[in-house]
Amino acid sequence: MKKHLLLWLLYLLPFALCAQVVDTTAQVAPQEQTIAYRYVNASSLTLRALPSASAVALAKIDGAGRVTVLAERPDGWSKVQVDTYLGFVKSEYLVAQQQDVTAETIDWSSVEASGGEAYAQVSAVDVRAPQVTLARPVVRKAAPKASAGPRVYICNNGRTEVYHSSEDCSAMRRCTYTTKVASTGEARGLGLRECMKCY
Ligand SMILES: [Zn+2]
Repeated sequence: MKKHLLLWLLYLLPFALCAQVVDTTAQVAPQEQTIAYRYVNASSLTLRALPSASAVALAKIDGAGRVTVLAERPDGWSKVQVDTYLGFVKSEYLVAQQQDVTAETIDWSSVEASGGEAYAQVSAVDVRAPQVTLARPVVRKAAPKASAGPRVYICNNGRTEVYHSSEDCSAMRRCTYTTKVASTGEARGLGLRECMKCY
């Protein structure tokens, strides 16, 4: 194959020189051929950290997804790269062309919609967390002490020393400022005491 290519190049060389156009495609082509794409021929394929069925699973590659084969090993595993993952998959589930994929579970319309031949859907397998849902402990919120006690009313004039049991208190009705509603605990926390009139 290489010999053929070389002969072709030698044959084409005079034409190329005459035309004074350097066609770079002939030089680039051999490099492109070193990139070997393969397609997942299964509903999904597990990418593992090591070439072993018992090795840690890193990710699941969806069927018809494209992987870049870095090495095809004699033990039946291929070292592949897909998305940001690097790992090993069983070579028997890889085919050379996407059109060779025969797995029946593939949703071809979504493959077509998300990249076609460049389609590569990968989902991470979380190896750290066990698949157990832990029940969250119920944290009972303790009511803050300040809100303890019944509601009281405070004239918001900034200088009052008392709190009232009702807004209807005659002293409270003279208040020309806004009314602050608080709990007895809050009012006491502010250093206020009970109004002599309404208590
Ligand atoms: Zn009062």
